[in-house]
Amino acid sequence: MNAASFEVNLARRVIERFNLSPPVDVESVAYRYAMVEHCPIPLQVDGICLNLKRPGIRPTIIVNLDRPLRRRRFTLAHELGHVLIPWHRGSLYDDFSLSDRERTFDRWEMEGEANRFASELLMPSDWISEVQTLANNFGRAVSWVQEQAEVSMIASAIRLIGIASANHIFAHCDDTGFVLNSGRSPGTLANAPAWNEDLDRSYLDGNAADRGEILAGGTCLYWWRFPDEVALAEPNDPRDWRSILQEIIDDLVAFDNDKPRVRQSINGVIGATNSSRRGSSAEELLAALMQRFDSKRAQGGIFPELPRHPNFRDFLIRRVKTLRGVGP
Ligand SMILES: [Zn+2]
Repeated sequence: MNAASFEVNLARRVIERFNLSPPVDVESVAYRYAMVEHCPIPLQVDGICLNLKRPGIRPTIIVNLDRPLRRRRFTLAHELGHVLIPWHRGSLYDDFSLSDRERTFDRWEMEGEANRFASELLMPSDWISEVQTLANNFGRAVSWVQEQAEVSMIASAIRLIGIASANHIFAHCDDTGFVLNSGRSPGTLANAPAWNEDLDRSYLDGNAADRGEILAGGTCLYWWRFPDEVALAEPNDPRDWRSILQEIIDDLVAFDNDKPRVRQSINGVIGATNSSRRGSSAEELLAALMQRFDSKRAQGGIFPELPRHPNFRDFLIRRVKTLRGVGP
């Protein structure tokens, strides 16, 4: 395990001191360090912390009673993080729907610290890795954790994606398929779906080795696991990779002047992926390239069209075969 940050170690000390295990009684722990009130707050606020680190004054945590219970549990753990982390001072108003862009850098750092504290307190590392192993797929782990730790589905998904093996992606959507939140596990090349846009599942569903969805409170969590390896099926197209690529470019690029630049950027993606995956098998390289090209779709230009071209897969297979010296 990597060296844990200050706030994660702090949460572990609290867990040890009060001998806690999920579902953590965050209410009684918070009472040890602060005055806690639950009341409706007629503002877009999840919680408020008053009088942090003011000598002689006990800090106060106010949790917005208008929010769902599991979200309030996370808010309380988050506010407790502000109370216990020594450099969080003054009074803080927490609105979790605020985007990172709307915050100052210092505030953004503090929110990250309080969130990591809350996440560790409610879903301790040892416990969560055990659950992950037992559940043996991402969706089952998310459901299990949200029930056992009494946290929201999204808190469970964010916690689990951080420790999931490479090639996992999730998207949390409202009932119209609009992406509220998304994430990918460490080592995943494909991009997680963009926030605040409609979810486009076509690529994800079409290429996943395993996938699922969980409904909760009018929202849906979609998850996908991509293969570590993709078999090099014999291409339908007998031509070499250069000819296939030329045809794809001719189909997708209208002006001859633009073609050399497009060819160069495609070859650039392949070169960069190949050098980052030295020593990988041909099948692993093909899986990595498919994800890398998918992640490039957000860049625009030719990239959104490429994976949809009927000969693109054949081109990648031919290219991988020559790079790995396993065929023309
Ligand atoms: Zn906060």
